[in-house]
Amino acid sequence: MGPGPDAAYARIRAAIAVAAARVGRDPGDVEVVAVGKTVAPDRIRAAVAAGFRTIGENRVQEAASKFEAVNAGLDPRPTWHLVGPLQSNKARRAVTLFDVIETVDSIPLATRLDRLAAELRPGRPYPVLVQVNVDDDASKAGLAPAAVERQLAEILALPNLRVDGLMTVGRLVAAAAAARPTFVALRRLSERLRAREARLGAALSMGMTDDFEVAVEEGATIVRIGRAIFGDRPGPPGALR
Ligand SMILES: *Cc1c(COP(=O)(O)O)cnc(C)c1O
Repeated sequence: MGPGPDAAYARIRAAIAVAAARVGRDPGDVEVVAVGKTVAPDRIRAAVAAGFRTIGENRVQEAASKFEAVNAGLDPRPTWHLVGPLQSNKARRAVTLFDVIETVDSIPLATRLDRLAAELRPGRPYPVLVQVNVDDDASKAGLAPAAVERQLAEILALPNLRVDGLMTVGRLVAAAAAARPTFVALRRLSERLRAREARLGAALSMGMTDDFEVAVEEGATIVRIGRAIFGDRPGPPGALR
């Protein structure tokens, strides 16, 4: 189970500070999403108490089953990010639970979220990230790099969404440095798109337990960390689940 969330918080923030210093960034510009999939609510609450204010879940159902237990009595409650794929039949539930959906990966999904946001939270544009499959990896979700410009323009035109930035899930790599090209590609894509699209925010969600320091060096503003906080998940090594 590891040494506990207090030590994890100090260790991860220190590692972010070192990585940020190497490239002259402010470590305060990097938010940690504590990914709590498979983790019981009491352990997530301990992580919140240790300082992790943002929780990530990759399944709507699982988030729904833990949401009340994690938030109970906390004021402010932690912020919740959806970091896994969203099916349209779960979109309504997702908008009611999550503060941010990081995984908008199609125009139909974006359109559905836009309508739901207008209905469920009128006047408050809903924060999302657009997921890009920068490696063009058939096993990964996200807009294809070749199509991202045209599709992003359509998503940015939706009045009830606020597109804070881009997100990617990197390839599984043996060494952290091998993830760098993916992170560089997402940063460059964001810069290129923002030069033309004033409505696209500058957030970059990239990097996980094995490679978040490299992601911070390459400009990540959100890192999504599970195992370094909660220990290994059940299941085959390396699996996202
Ligand atoms: C599980 C998961 C993470 C966290 O992975 P760790 O390797 O445990 O840090 C990050 N992002 C997504 C999309 C995930 O599903």
